[in-house]
Amino acid sequence: MANIVLKPGREKSLLRRHPWIFSGAIHSVNDEPAPGGTVDLLSSDRQFLARASYSPTSQIRARAWTFEDKQVDREFFRKRIRSAIQLRDTWHVIASPLGTPDSDAYRLIYAESDGIPGLIVDRYGEVLVLQSLTAGSEFWKEMLADLLLEETGLATIYERSDADVRELEGLETKVGILRGNLSSFIFPIIEHNLKFNVNLQSGHKTGFYLDQRLNRLHVRELAKDRDVLDGFCYTGGFTVNALAGGATSVLSIDSSAEALALCRENIVLNNLDAARQTSIEGDVFQLLRKFRDEARSFDLIILDPPKFAPTAAQAERAARGYKDINLLAFKLLRPGGMLVTFSCSGGIDAGLFQKIIAGAALDAGVEAQILEHFSQGADHPVALNFPEAAYLKGLVCIRK
Ligand code: SAH
Repeated sequence: MANIVLKPGREKSLLRRHPWIFSGAIHSVNDEPAPGGTVDLLSSDRQFLARASYSPTSQIRARAWTFEDKQVDREFFRKRIRSAIQLRDTWHVIASPLGTPDSDAYRLIYAESDGIPGLIVDRYGEVLVLQSLTAGSEFWKEMLADLLLEETGLATIYERSDADVRELEGLETKVGILRGNLSSFIFPIIEHNLKFNVNLQSGHKTGFYLDQRLNRLHVRELAKDRDVLDGFCYTGGFTVNALAGGATSVLSIDSSAEALALCRENIVLNNLDAARQTSIEGDVFQLLRKFRDEARSFDLIILDPPKFAPTAAQAERAARGYKDINLLAFKLLRPGGMLVTFSCSGGIDAGLFQKIIAGAALDAGVEAQILEHFSQGADHPVALNFPEAAYLKGLVCIRK
């Protein structure tokens, strides 16, 4: 088998079972592995450390499939897929806190955290949406698709391999049906007994922000009799929940007209009172300033922006962005009002995020307390050796 020999002392992260090897740690690549093909990772004294996939163009040059000396083949992947499915079943990830399954959309395979680096699979009802992000997952993709159908008993897989990171891996964009067929790209799902139409073809990520599923339910519980502002509303995940929870009014902002159109559709789909909701197509940064100048106020503000800092290198600039919108939000909050604020930036950890929010409240001249910490649901588990998987941080703050 082809192998990669590491420089002296560079085996430490692998011994802690972190699955990535960066190009700078590599002494030599031997026997010309194929892109995505399997290689052994060896220490400088040629001890076996892991079996991995090879990514010739990425700075992350290899990702471990296993730290044991075992074969990486169809049965290997079948076991990984099966245990990912079992985890979701055992933990009832689609059940509401009351116990009954009331959702049919959730993440089935979460890459490194489920032992299959590069592979994301989200389940939307009877359809699987697959995202292949690395040379390794691409190498095995057809086989993985077959295994997914065998292990779930489903018939349709739609591929959304259009994430930017594929470029780093030397891979082209691929979007389309991988198995089975679809009668429409607008696909209806149920989340905590609410209906949402998801655009599988052009929606963000695989179509819907499944990582916020539980947090959307929490917002439903907070919304009763409140005037709500949903910044960065996308297709209305929080907006629809706020209306369902009895909000007096909901103002939803997004820069995408397409997202706002689907948001309106999702309100109607649930027979909610559309007269209580207003959409504004625009920039949250500018609109919050405008609302401040107009002395407008709200009881519940949700801020769920796109990631400002994918990696730590952009953290400083991102921190300014988070501080800016949260400072304005604190100013728009009535006393006793709540701010539900998120960061999905990998480059900003939970401690730093809390500091940014604390600084925002201070500069806004308000006192606030954190009532709850939000994160991604159990269908997005975080392998202990792979903390990068925990990217979603949320704080529920109450203004005194
Ligand atoms: N809360 C949503 C997900 C939000 S995703 C849910 O639960 O489904 C982030 C959204 O922010 C995207 O829809 C994107 O179009 C929008 N967006 C990005 N930058 C923006 C800006 N400066 N102003 C307004 N919307 C923006």
